[in-house]
Amino acid sequence: MKDQDAFWRTKSLTEMSKSEWESLCDGCAKCCLQKLEDEDTGEVFYTRLVCRYLDAQCRCKVYETRHEKVPACIWLQPEDLDALSWLPDTCAYRLVHEGKDLPNWHPLRTGKPLSTLKKGKSVLHWPVIPDDAVPEDEWEDHIIFKAE
Ligand code: SF4
Ligand code: SF4
Repeated sequence: MKDQDAFWRTKSLTEMSKSEWESLCDGCAKCCLQKLEDEDTGEVFYTRLVCRYLDAQCRCKVYETRHEKVPACIWLQPEDLDALSWLPDTCAYRLVHEGKDLPNWHPLRTGKPLSTLKKGKSVLHWPVIPDDAVPEDEWEDHIIFKAE
C-alpha cells in the first residue's frame, strides 16, 4: 500500500474498522489529564494532574475496566468529535476529524508502538502529578493551559 493510501488519510472516522479506530490513538494520555470547566463560560482548562491509573509507559493500568474505575474516563466515538473541541490539538482523532495528517512521530507512521513516548510527545514529559496526590479543591492551582 502506498503511504498516501494509509487508512487515516483515506477514510473518515466513521468508516474505520474497530482496529483502525483503536490504532489511531497515539497514547499521549493528554485526555487522561484532569480538566476543569468554567461553568459560566464553558471554557475547559487542563491541569497537570494525571489519572492515577496511568503507568510509567503511559498506558492505562485498568484499560478493560476503566469506565467502571473512572466514570469520567473518555469513551471516544466518531459522532462525538464535533462536541469534543477540548481534545488536544495533537490528538489523532481530532486531527483526522479536521482533515489533517498525523504527525511524523505517531506510531502508525513510525511503526513503533512507543514512539509517542520516546519522542517526548506524551504527558510523561510534562511535570504531571497523580490526581490522587492533590485534594480536589486544590486542582485549580494546577491548571497548565486552556483548551483551544
Ligand atoms: S488525546 Fe487523543 S491521541 Fe492522545 S491518548 Fe487521548 S485519545 Fe489518544
Ligand atoms: S482510566 Fe485509564 S484511560 Fe481512563 S483516564 Fe485513567 S489512565 Fe486514562
